[in-house]
Amino acid sequence: EKLSLLQTDECSEPPIKDQQEKMATQRTILITGCSRGIGLALAEEYINRGWQVLATCRSPERAKELTALLKKHHQPPAVALDTADDGTILRAFQTVLQRGVRKLDLLFHNAGISGPEDVLKATRAELDATFSTNVSGPMVITQTFLPLLKAAPQPKLVFMSTIMSSLEMNMGGGMMAYRVTKTALNGMVRQFAGDVSGVIVLAMHPGWVQTDLGNSVGPAPLSPAASCRGMYDTIEGATRAHNGKFIDYQGQKIRW
Ligand code: NDP
Repeated sequence: EKLSLLQTDECSEPPIKDQQEKMATQRTILITGCSRGIGLALAEEYINRGWQVLATCRSPERAKELTALLKKHHQPPAVALDTADDGTILRAFQTVLQRGVRKLDLLFHNAGISGPEDVLKATRAELDATFSTNVSGPMVITQTFLPLLKAAPQPKLVFMSTIMSSLEMNMGGGMMAYRVTKTALNGMVRQFAGDVSGVIVLAMHPGWVQTDLGNSVGPAPLSPAASCRGMYDTIEGATRAHNGKFIDYQGQKIRW
């Protein structure tokens, strides 16, 4: 499969010299789930801060707003990556390499779904599918892209969690698969924080944000742009002391 990957359309577009030089100095972030919502706003925030943004999403051909944003700012085109599909993860990695990317300063696991609501009605298949997208995907993506992260001088790895994952706060009340898989994701954060050296690993709560997902539980108070500005500053300020911590977009510690 690796050979056939090297023959994708990316091969016919070798990165031009000035792009390569820019890549060597600019910081680079890879974000999952950039087609809409917080992921799209994150892409915009990091572009505005001067980063090279590797924006990934399930279907780049359908992500019109993202494509327009990337084009406007002369960023590389969106990369197809479905967190529930290992083939797309491997192909995304190959695409990024073929574009000449040699280090990742930040890997941001943003993509997520809510899944079945009711613990009394959900099926195994529904819970498994939610787990695959929200937990297994970030694990496989991290494993795949780790060599690029390790090549950066001060790499950071951020997993988008939610305050709803907090076990202290969970006494039912719907959003079952969402809460349970995000709690598991927090466990994954602790595993990576302990088992991978030289990378600062965070669980992030973005606030309650005006997106399809955020507004599904009521009118969310926070704009995606405000959330992403806060997350940017919080992540920039994160040091070794924050490794394995659960914090929100304002840098406040969240209780597990
Ligand atoms: P949205 O539902 O608005 O957007 C979700 C994004 O994830 C979309 O881009 C969607 O892509 C993508 N996505 C879903 N499944 C996959 C997949 N299998 N592979 C790749 N991408 C996928 O949600 P938000 O923007 O609000 O949420 C982003 C993250 O923030 C999530 O992890 C969520 O749990 C978290 N969060 C959000 C809060 C809020 O208030 N909004 C609060 C706390 C946490 P597509 O367009 O293809 O469906």
